[in-house]
Amino acid sequence: VALAKIPTIRELYKAGVLKAVDAAKHAPNPALLDRVSLYQGDITRLEVDSIVNAANRSLLGGSPPLFDGAIHAAAGPSLLEECRTLDGCDTGDAKITKGYDLPSRHIIHTVGPVYSSSKAEEKAQQLASCYQTSLQLAVKNSLKHIAFPSISTGIYGYPVKDATHIALDVVRKFLDSEGGGKLERTIFVVWSDADKAVYESLIPYYFPPD
Ligand code: ADP
Repeated sequence: VALAKIPTIRELYKAGVLKAVDAAKHAPNPALLDRVSLYQGDITRLEVDSIVNAANRSLLGGSPPLFDGAIHAAAGPSLLEECRTLDGCDTGDAKITKGYDLPSRHIIHTVGPVYSSSKAEEKAQQLASCYQTSLQLAVKNSLKHIAFPSISTGIYGYPVKDATHIALDVVRKFLDSEGGGKLERTIFVVWSDADKAVYESLIPYYFPPD
């Protein structure tokens, strides 16, 4: 899927998919409407500079049908070879590899927290750190696009609404910051209809229309 085929949130407002809300959490920043996308589908098919893998700490791939396994399957065995040299990754941190057989040039592997309601504050900080370190890594490597899946909300059990607030908040603040100016497109990739509905309802709070 070429970047040109991935709708920006400006286009989604125009199409009526996204609707303005009364109590937006951030002031409108019209430039950002062209630099953020919501896309439903398979992240491994995107022709972009980087996609993010919701990895585990070994970085050696989960077994299918896990998302991590899907990335390794699509990227081919050379990915595992490079991952073996990385010595794993801590929760909340991120490491970059080449994309190999993927249409994406790079893969940013980040390790989300396994959710626990009794440690909600710590888990929230770790999840925010996944998004933050992935964005920083993309900019550090001069990458212009980054596509995120909904980190930790699958088998790691993070409540989707809470996780989406964190994802949107970190990305909005990063794009407002100096380093964020170098990222031309940030894509939120959702798989399920339910997750898509959550992103559609929350995006207008963080990226209000102009
Ligand atoms: P985690 O271990 O971080 O919870 P999962 O592997 O369970 O990660 O998946 C994270 C999210 O990615 C889930 O919402 C899942 O539905 C979604 N997902 C699964 N496959 C794909 C895919 N090919 N493209 C984009 N998102 C996907």
